This record gives sequence, C-alpha cells and structure tokens, in this order.
Amino acid sequence: MLVMMLMKIPLNRQAKQPIYLQIRDRIYHLIHTGHLPPHSQLPSIRTLAQTTQVNKLTVIEAYSVLEADGLVQAKQGSGYFVTSPRTRSRFPNQPLDKPLDQQTDRRRYDRLDSTQRQFNPTQQVLLPIRGINAFPDIYTASLRSHHLPDYIDFGLGFPQASDLEDLQRISRRAMKSAYTFFQPGNPQGNLELRNQIVQILLQQGLEISPENLIVTSGSMQSLSLLANYYVMPKDRVIVEAPTYHGMLSVFQQRQAQIIGIPMTAEGMNLDLLAQYLESHRPKLIYTISTLHNPTGITTSAWHRRKLLALAEEYSCLVIEDNAYEPLSFGTTPPPIKAFDSKGSVVYVGTFSKTLMPGLRVGYMAITGDNYQAIVERKLLHDFHVSAASQAIVKEYLASGHYRRRLTKIKRLHRDRRDYMIDALIRHFPLSVTWTVPDGGTFLWIQLPDKVDLESLCQAAAKRKVLVGSGSAFFPKEQGYPALRLNFSLSPDELERGIQVIGEILHNMLES
Ligand code: PMP
Repeated sequence: MLVMMLMKIPLNRQAKQPIYLQIRDRIYHLIHTGHLPPHSQLPSIRTLAQTTQVNKLTVIEAYSVLEADGLVQAKQGSGYFVTSPRTRSRFPNQPLDKPLDQQTDRRRYDRLDSTQRQFNPTQQVLLPIRGINAFPDIYTASLRSHHLPDYIDFGLGFPQASDLEDLQRISRRAMKSAYTFFQPGNPQGNLELRNQIVQILLQQGLEISPENLIVTSGSMQSLSLLANYYVMPKDRVIVEAPTYHGMLSVFQQRQAQIIGIPMTAEGMNLDLLAQYLESHRPKLIYTISTLHNPTGITTSAWHRRKLLALAEEYSCLVIEDNAYEPLSFGTTPPPIKAFDSKGSVVYVGTFSKTLMPGLRVGYMAITGDNYQAIVERKLLHDFHVSAASQAIVKEYLASGHYRRRLTKIKRLHRDRRDYMIDALIRHFPLSVTWTVPDGGTFLWIQLPDKVDLESLCQAAAKRKVLVGSGSAFFPKEQGYPALRLNFSLSPDELERGIQVIGEILHNMLES
C-alpha cells in the first residue's frame, strides 16, 4: 500500500525530459530518501503503467535504467526489488569495492570453465624505439574482407547490424528538424544532445556540465584531437600493454615515445606504472578503464582512484577511453573522471558500439582551461559533427529506443559470449587460456609461446576465417601470442570459426 501511494508519480508530459526518465528520477529520489528501503518490491510493470497512465514499455525502460544503475534488481518471476546499498558500486558517494556482479559472474564461470580463464601474462614493460603497428593497414584489410563471400570475421570491433526498421523510423523522425541543417552548427555539438549525454554520464556516476562536453565524430576524433593537442614529438606516453591499436597508431603519428605497461587481471600494473612515472616522467596515460580493449578487463574503483592519485602526483594527464562501458552486463564503478577534482582526466565516449559506427558520433568531457582550445581545434578540423547524425542520436535517446536497444544487445552478447566459451572449451587445446569479460564484444585468447601467430592467421584465412591477431595491440608488435575474437557473431559462425581455429592450433601444437 505504501509503495502504491509513493507510486503516484507526477509526470509532466510537456517537459523535454522523457517520461521514463521522470519515472526513474522519482524512484531514484524515493530510494535515496529511504522511502523505498532496500529489498522492498517495486510495483509490477503493469500496475505502474496503469497508475501512471503510460505505456508498459515506458515503465520497462525506467526500471531498466534503475537496474543498470544498480539501484534495483529483477528477480525472475517475482518482479523488481530495491538493492541494498552494499551492492551499488556505481556512485562515487557509496562504498566501492570490487563490483559484486563480477564476483557473481566469476562464480557462474567456475561451473562453466574452471581452468581456462586465468590471466597471468608476463609483466614486462614494452619500450619500442621505432615505429609500431599499422592500424590504417589493418582497417583497410578488414574493409576489403567484408566483400568476401562466406567469410567469418572475428576481427570486427562492432556489434552486428540489427533493428534496421527502428533506425529507419527514428531517422524519419529526426529529419523533422532538417531545416536546422541549413544553418552552421555549434562546434561543441548540439546543446540538446549534450544535455542528453550529461544524463547518460550521470547514470554512470559522472557529473559533468554540458559546457564541458564536445560532441565529436566518434571517439577516434576525440583521441586524435587530444593527442594532437597534448603530445609533441618525443613526448613519452603510457599505454596499457596490450591496448587499442588505433590509439597506438595515433601516438605513433605524433612521434611519441610509447611505454607499454603490462596489464594484470586487475588492470594496468600500478607498481610498474609508479616506477615509470618516476623514471620517465611521461606526458599522459591512456587507459581503457571498463571492458578494456582487447582484454575485456574492468578495473575496480580502488584501481581507478590509485591510478588517478599516481597521475596527479606526477602531473600527468589521463585520457580515459570508455568506449565499451554501455555494453557492460552488470554495474561498473564510476569512471576515473568521476574522482577527478583537478581537471587531470579527459573522458572519451562514443555511440559507435551501442548504436552504429557509421553515424560517427562520440564525445569527450574536459574540465579546466584546455576546453576552449580543443573546441577551437575541433572547429578548424570539421566545424562540427554532421547535424543529421546528431539529430538521429538525439532521437534515439529521447524516444527511449537507446535503452531498449542496449538491453537487447547486452542480452544477446551474454548468450553469444557463453556460446563462444563453450565452443572454445570443446575445440581449443587445453594450454590455451582466455579472460571472461563482463560485457563488450571480445574475448582475449592467450596462446602458448610456441604458436606462430602469423601462420595461424594465414591458415585460418585460407579456410575463410578471419581472426584478429593480438600482436597489433602491443606497442611495436611485441608481447605474447594472443587473439582478439569478436563473440557477437551468430552461433553457426561461432561454432564453425572456433572449430577451424581449434583444428589449426591442435596441428601447430602437435607438430
Ligand atoms: N576506442 C576504443 C577502445 C575502440 O575500440 C574504438 C573502436 N574500435 C574506438 C575508440 C574508436 O571508435 P569510434 O571512433 O567509432 O567511436
């Protein structure tokens, strides 16, 4: 009864804020003021839809956002319940230990795979002297391969195409504002879109003003603009080893000296980071804190705070690339940027992984004096992101389709990840290990030293299976033999592809 009284949610149907977010905010408020105590049950979707006179999908939307925030939890067959504060790891003002969902997930995998999920690579810092990898070549080769019939491509970094009808409908609605496309746009990006991004970031635990945001042509543009602004030839920069190969190429183009600090199962090795900050005094640290590309590792709040403290101690800028955060199955700690009070962290995000890469819409959050200078660079680079792309993303966010799409992709990816792991257990030699990411699209497969990666990739390509060679993710292609495999493919493709790679590996290791 008490819950029902509280559920008389005052909705403003004329407001710009979507209804599902108004419902979310109200419940959020009730939880934080103690009116909805831990473990209490929320009204059923049908009841709340009736009492508030909204569509059931709107309530589902609101509950999914609260669930994604870790504030409520769905129990199969019984409905939604308020979580206890101990399990909420997303907000900086709450106690933050290792995310609980990661522990649950580990338990799940103890059953599925007790031997092959160790991540214990050699802890050797990589200091390349000359050129490193050739991301443009890899990208072009991947584009070429899309025209090959019947190929299975594990090297892709994006979710599969889906929900094209939604895209068409949403694009039509977005075109209602097409008259604005005749006017030049703001280099910072559309204000309404920036306000929507502010809300997304708030849900991640990061409070930022729209005046600190710049909408960019995907996160690649953010990373390039930042490297061009901050890094001069011969400057030293720290990256995780392995790391996103695109960023390695960006730094290479800036003629930076790249220092690859090895990843541990908890994230970048912080002892080695401290040593190299002291000995090499780098300009910046590039880190992928959540669902790291390629290892899939998400760092804890403790690791994030410690990395930031070290960076601040040595006046080193942090670029936090959070491209995969929205594809996390569980809750994640707030971004490093959420702990930053001194403007030491630039945060980079994108809609490429959740909506579609072809729209080219990403963003960055910069607090401090450099914001205006980077806006000016963006202006001189391309004036602003395509108004049509911004309008489409805006419409996705305003209509609630974005949330629905996320829920759907994540469910699909979880199934596909489990499917791939099952196939790996059946087809791969026992000496191969992998990390189990709590989201994203990749598995990082560590191979025995004996494996010749190049021969493996060539042999697989001959059998129409394209694999992402792990060497591209290490500075100067050093590091250990590994593969990055996209698990978002269809079960048939996963089965056939993994079987082919497994056979090649068995042959290589037996010879
Ligand atoms: N950062 C990371 C970690 C990535 O994996 C990618 C794409 N693979 C990007 C940035 C660039 O993505 P986009 O420019 O499409 O946002």
